[in-house]
Amino acid sequence: MQLSNNFRLSEFTRSDTAKRLGIVNECSSVEQVLNLAHLCHMVLQPLRDRFGPIRITSGYRCPELNSAVGGVKNSQHLRGEAADIHLPSVEKGKEYLSFLKTLTVFDQLIWEENKGTCWIHVSAKRLAGNRREIKNIIK
Ligand SMILES: [Zn+2]
Repeated sequence: MQLSNNFRLSEFTRSDTAKRLGIVNECSSVEQVLNLAHLCHMVLQPLRDRFGPIRITSGYRCPELNSAVGGVKNSQHLRGEAADIHLPSVEKGKEYLSFLKTLTVFDQLIWEENKGTCWIHVSAKRLAGNRREIKNIIK
């Protein structure tokens, strides 16, 4: 299923961890799919239009997968409101970040670093107000 010009639903449900553990990671409600489509339209497609192909490393997570990857209990990934974006380099990541900050409507934008790997977590809410919160989480 196509969510926007360049993003398909399968990019948001694909997970190596789910595959390895035999977890079937599929959306369980229309709301989750609508939320993902909203995230694409408001945030990810504009980023893609500017920078070219964007790789999603984690999109929707069913509760079982969210626990398996150590996600927080009320993670926006559970509702299809969030995606983690692969960064080809730190420099490119900073460019993504400054584009997202200034030109998209997001709820949370988090620069995450763990064991030398950096990624951007971004979320958007379809129905409620977006907080436009920007954070760094460095472990
Ligand atoms: Zn995330």
